[in-house]
Amino acid sequence: MSDSVPCSLLFKLSPELRLKIYTHLLTFPTPIHLRQHVPGTPHTALLRTNRQIHHEAQAVLYDTNTISLSRNDFCLFTDPALQTPVETLQVRQLRFTSFGESLACNVLVERCAVCQDDARGLLEALGGMPVLRRVGVDYSTQIANFVRFRQLAAEEGGSRKGLTITCISVRTYRVRNAGFDQVDFTFSHRPLASIWPDLATLSHSLLSEEEQETVLARLRIQDPDTPDKLWLLLWAAQHGRLVDVLGEQVAGAWVDESSDALAGMSGEQRDAGLHGFTVMLQTFLKAHTAVQCRRFLGVLRESMGM
Ligand SMILES: [Zn+2]
Repeated sequence: MSDSVPCSLLFKLSPELRLKIYTHLLTFPTPIHLRQHVPGTPHTALLRTNRQIHHEAQAVLYDTNTISLSRNDFCLFTDPALQTPVETLQVRQLRFTSFGESLACNVLVERCAVCQDDARGLLEALGGMPVLRRVGVDYSTQIANFVRFRQLAAEEGGSRKGLTITCISVRTYRVRNAGFDQVDFTFSHRPLASIWPDLATLSHSLLSEEEQETVLARLRIQDPDTPDKLWLLLWAAQHGRLVDVLGEQVAGAWVDESSDALAGMSGEQRDAGLHGFTVMLQTFLKAHTAVQCRRFLGVLRESMGM
């Protein structure tokens, strides 16, 4: 629909049909930044046509999409003019693109409650969003902030009953907070989360070397850095050569996610095992280049006469 369609035409339709049109025009496959134009579509212009359309269409926009925000947008010391204009009462799904403190609080000795390491103010703000059902935080660019947050939650577990952070898989942590039981709240390392599952499946598949290379090439388009690093580890694990890549001590942190041993563990053991493994992978991703990993895989293959 273009802006030139008269509003009166839209109002000749039944409310149900209007709703269908809004849903069709305003549902986006990736999280949206409300401050920006959504790439590739002029449809959000619909929101600016008149008051009634704005009211009806905005409800649909918040219902069907994931909204992208950062801690900056909740910071108590940041000028509201520099924050994303968002109807927090209507947000159902939220994605944090950054878990770092705001620019304003970064330069202050005393940060606001939202930007504190324990994120107390942020949790309160999220708890005050009545229809919020899902929160996803990508912590990959602020690993230190997440580590501190996790540590504080564990230390203060007694006094702040209800807040727990559990590693549920390689790459993802689930937050449970008594303040908002109904919210699915997770922290994930985005490069790991998007690449690991495919590669883990690939390493257990019976595909030929050429077929594996095709999958790798496709993943490199998505992320040129992560696939080769993780593939070296998975290949080495598959062929009993992990110690050559990681050294004996670090290789001990390897967890086979598909093994029954994991399922038989207590919640605490499972959390510790998966957390240790996730930290090891994060550290490995940071410490090596993709080129180094490809070369080393070549050396390993050669040493095995492959
Ligand atoms: Zn702040």
